[in-house]
Amino acid sequence: MGIIETRHLTHDYQKIDEDGKTQVSCRAVDDVDLDVSPGQFIAILGHNGSGKSTLAKHLNAILLPTQGTVYVDGLDTRDAEKLDAIRQRAGMVFQNPDNQIIGTVVEEDVAFGPENMGVSPREIEQRVEASLKTVDMWEYRKHSPNRLSGGQKQRVAIAGVVAMEPMCIVLDEPTAMLDPVGRKEVIRAAQKLNREKQVTIILITHYMEEVIEADRVIVMDQGKILMQGTPREIFSRVEELKAHRLDVPQVTMLAHELRKSGLPIPEGILTVEELADAISPLVNHTESKKG
Ligand code: ADP
Ligand code: MG
Repeated sequence: MGIIETRHLTHDYQKIDEDGKTQVSCRAVDDVDLDVSPGQFIAILGHNGSGKSTLAKHLNAILLPTQGTVYVDGLDTRDAEKLDAIRQRAGMVFQNPDNQIIGTVVEEDVAFGPENMGVSPREIEQRVEASLKTVDMWEYRKHSPNRLSGGQKQRVAIAGVVAMEPMCIVLDEPTAMLDPVGRKEVIRAAQKLNREKQVTIILITHYMEEVIEADRVIVMDQGKILMQGTPREIFSRVEELKAHRLDVPQVTMLAHELRKSGLPIPEGILTVEELADAISPLVNHTESKKG
C-alpha cells in the first residue's frame, strides 16, 4: 500500500462570478490518480494555476475531494475521525515562512506540533533536539524566529513538521521566497530527511535544479497529470514541455539544441558533467583528425 493514493481525485472551487451573483464552479484538480510509495522523493512541476497547491492540500486533508478519494497511509481523508492521524502522517510546509511560525522562540515553535498531539514533555524535548539538528538549526534553538533569514525560518518550519514524526512531508514551493543560499539549505534538509530518515517527500517547485535528483517527476497541467517519470525521462521530452510553456534545466536545453544542430548528444542530459562527458569525445575526435 502506498503512503499516498488518490483515485479519480477531482476538486472544484465555488466562486462568485464577476457580476457578483452567479456561483461558478472552477475545476482545479481533474481526475488525478497519484501513487506515492514510502521513501520516495517526488517533485511536482507545472505552471501557475495548474492545480499543484490544490492537490497538495488534499494530501493532509486541508481540502476534501469534490469527487474521488484520497488515502494517506490507507486512511480516507473524508473520515473526520482520522483527521489527526492523517495530519500526523502527512505534514505540510508552505511557501511563506512568516505564516508558519507561531512561537516566539525557535524551540517553542518546534515543540508546538508534538504538544498538540499530547506527546510527553520528555519526548518533546528529544524530538525538538533531533528535528532541529536534522535541519541544522540546533544552535538557533533559543533565538527569536523573527531575526532569522528566510531559509532559516523555512528550516524551522520543516523542523516543526519533523517533530511530529510524519511519514510524508509535502512542501509547496518552500523555496519560492528564498535567496539561492536559503534555497539550497532547504532542499538539502529535505534530501537529508528523505535519505537518512526515509521520510517520503513531495516537493512542488519551479526550480529545475531541485527536480533533477528526485526519484520521480510529475508534471501537472490544467488540473491533470500531464507526464510522470524519472527526471531523465521527463527532460528527454523537451519539445513537449516547451509546447506546454514548461521549463527544463538550462543544461538540458543546451544539450537539446546541440543535438538538434547535429551533434550526437543523447536526450535527457541533466547536469553540466553529463554534457561535458557527452561533448569531450567529440572534441578529441575532431582534434585527432586535424593532427
Ligand atoms: P498552482 O498551485 O499550480 O498554481 P492552484 O491549485 O493554486 O494551482 O490553483 C488551481 C486553480 O484553482 C486555479 O485556476 C486557481 O485560480 C483556482 N483556485 C485556487 N485556489 C482557489 C480558491 N481558494 N478559490 C477559488 N479558486 C481557486
Ligand atoms: Mg501553488
